[in-house]
Amino acid sequence: MTNGEARGLRARARGAGLRALGASGLPRLAAPFTRGAGAILMFHHVRPAAPSAFAPNRGLEITPEFLDETIRALREGGFDIISLDEAPDRIRHPAARPFAVLTFDDGYRDNLIHALPVLERRGAPFTIFVATGFAEGTARLWWIELEAAIRALSSVSFEGVELPCDTEARKTAAFLRIYWRLRAGSEERLLAEICALADRAGVDPRALTRDLCMDWDEIGALAANPLCTIGVHTLTHPRLAKLEAAAAQHEIEESQAIIETKLGRVARHLAYPVGDPTSAGPREFAMAAKLGFETAVTTRKGMIFPDHAGLMTALPRLSVNGDFQQRAFIDLLLTGAPFLLWNRGRRIAA
Ligand SMILES: [Zn+2]
Repeated sequence: MTNGEARGLRARARGAGLRALGASGLPRLAAPFTRGAGAILMFHHVRPAAPSAFAPNRGLEITPEFLDETIRALREGGFDIISLDEAPDRIRHPAARPFAVLTFDDGYRDNLIHALPVLERRGAPFTIFVATGFAEGTARLWWIELEAAIRALSSVSFEGVELPCDTEARKTAAFLRIYWRLRAGSEERLLAEICALADRAGVDPRALTRDLCMDWDEIGALAANPLCTIGVHTLTHPRLAKLEAAAAQHEIEESQAIIETKLGRVARHLAYPVGDPTSAGPREFAMAAKLGFETAVTTRKGMIFPDHAGLMTALPRLSVNGDFQQRAFIDLLLTGAPFLLWNRGRRIAA
């Protein structure tokens, strides 16, 4: 079995496990103990569904209707939706009601077009983590380039092997194989290999970035909205842990300075690009703390507990996954019970 197939199986097993867990009714009973002080929700694209069997990045997008449903689930579940600026106080001094923070990574234009109307209608504060290179149209959305290249090609050559891409299932298999092989390696290799594939497929990386990401005028307009907080997401969106320390620090510091200059306000929150343990670890957590960030968020899964007050630059999030756009899943995740299982009983898993 390939890496990709194994991951697919694990994802399906996780879905089935969640359904069984939800049906048991136990999570609702356990919620007062497993929910903690609250949750920081993570979103990426918000846009109408575009049905396609080859959609390997589908986990990173939800519909505007499901964003609305998620906000309803939070409010009906007793969560206070607060800004990220208010979160440190609620972590240090939990209230009777849990809190929720809505965060959107990367700075996609669809956030402005499709998410903002929902957030405004619901009066829900939110944070957009902006990678400045995306706003400038220079940094690369390599996971979307890879998808676009494989969509366009009928076969791809990778590591000396010819991978057929003549059906949607084969395209998905090729994507998963290449994606996880490159994720295991260096940032340079990942960017170079995908650049070569994009080139062969006639995919223009910069055009993709300009099409999908907000420019500074759009970010400025969004930042003027009282519901909006703009956070830092580096210059070029690298996996920071793969870089030399000085380069990693430059990515964080310089992007913070650019945002503060462009928008005329302080940016005190950071999201680590990719954010898994191979992309951000103890070195980055210490770096963010030393640079004075009030919070920094990963993509580790979990609720927020009072003990996170000592780990304010290593906060986990609750990923709202496009593969699971069902109210029952959100209700279940918001009990916190699934995270306790996934983290093997540990409430704090940095
Ligand atoms: Zn990102």
